[in-house]
Amino acid sequence: MSTVSPPGAPVPGQLTFVARPRAKPARHLADLTMAERRAAVAELGEKPFRADQLSRHYFEKLNSDPSLMTDLPAAAREKLTTALFPPLLTSVREMTADGGTTRKMLWRLFDGALVESVLMRYTDRTTMCVSSQAGCGMNCPFCATGQAGLTRNMTTAEIVEQVVAGARALAAGDVPGGPGRVNNVVFMGMGEPLANYKAVIGAVRRMVDPAPDGLGISARGITVSTVGLVPAIGKLADEGLPVTLAVSLHAPDDELRDTLVPINTRWKVAEVLDAAWEYTAKTKRRVSIEYALIKDINDQEWRADLLGRLIKNQLVHVNLIPLNPTPGSKWTASRPEDERAFVRRLESHGVAVTVRDTRGREIDGACGQLAAAE
Ligand code: SAH
Repeated sequence: MSTVSPPGAPVPGQLTFVARPRAKPARHLADLTMAERRAAVAELGEKPFRADQLSRHYFEKLNSDPSLMTDLPAAAREKLTTALFPPLLTSVREMTADGGTTRKMLWRLFDGALVESVLMRYTDRTTMCVSSQAGCGMNCPFCATGQAGLTRNMTTAEIVEQVVAGARALAAGDVPGGPGRVNNVVFMGMGEPLANYKAVIGAVRRMVDPAPDGLGISARGITVSTVGLVPAIGKLADEGLPVTLAVSLHAPDDELRDTLVPINTRWKVAEVLDAAWEYTAKTKRRVSIEYALIKDINDQEWRADLLGRLIKNQLVHVNLIPLNPTPGSKWTASRPEDERAFVRRLESHGVAVTVRDTRGREIDGACGQLAAAE
């Protein structure tokens, strides 16, 4: 009788190669649920309620500086902050536009990877546009981020820290308009959020959980934008998080979309839209269709008509984005008259349409322009 080894068990005499784990960013308080924070604090030999205090500092006061944590015993402060607030984002550069109300922040991560986030302050609200990956693997030819490929996924805390950094700048009065707070977060920076699902959901939970567990931002103010990873859209619909889903469609027909959004060769327009309708059915949230208008590529009236027929009578809204220029791309934004005709055609189907007011183009901070170069 032969002996049966459990699967994966080393075979005697055979060399086993163990892949060395890639260095990961240090664990941060924002990676953890409140229960995990209490456990982490206990492991460090402190009373679990210290986790609540640390959470208040970070999520309410936006503070991770031990010298300001006077409610913690001096001896515990250094130990706890060293263990739970490792530096994750180092500011490399900040660029501003629109009189300082648009700010693009370039960050270096612990391993040298570069990411960007953009703060946009409007009269009545402030939106943070965050990255979920360093680079992006989706390879859309009109997007600067897609051209450089994927470096790596970001962690939950690396994503949350971008919002906290924006919130700090606002609270400190560094953004013209007086002290303020972050109202909206859009996952429209670098990366494909649904390709980094677990970290992104963790980040959304930290953002929406009320203080001291999280930042207490309304889920309705959070938008997750995707190229259309159908299974992940299905999972998101079941999270019980009423976040807004944005789908980067850019073409209503598979022939063109296969070239503009290459993942379309895996999940077709019809499947992506079905997933979107399932999302609206489950969450009762209006889905947003993103459509970058590219001159003579996807801006024909017949395409507006086809799009209108595909999406009419659904809980949906189309956000047209005049194409932003990216290095090396031969494409440009549509002519104003073509854009107007496209809008009219869509509206003739009763579809709600807006044209995005693009911020930050002059600092390469607009949609599709984030390339994180020093
Ligand atoms: N990967 C996700 C998140 C990025 S969001 C997604 O694709 O949805 C960035 C948005 O800007 C997407 O809708 C993207 O298609 C769009 N975009 C990319 N390049 C652009 C450009 N040059 N001009 C205008 N919009 C662009």
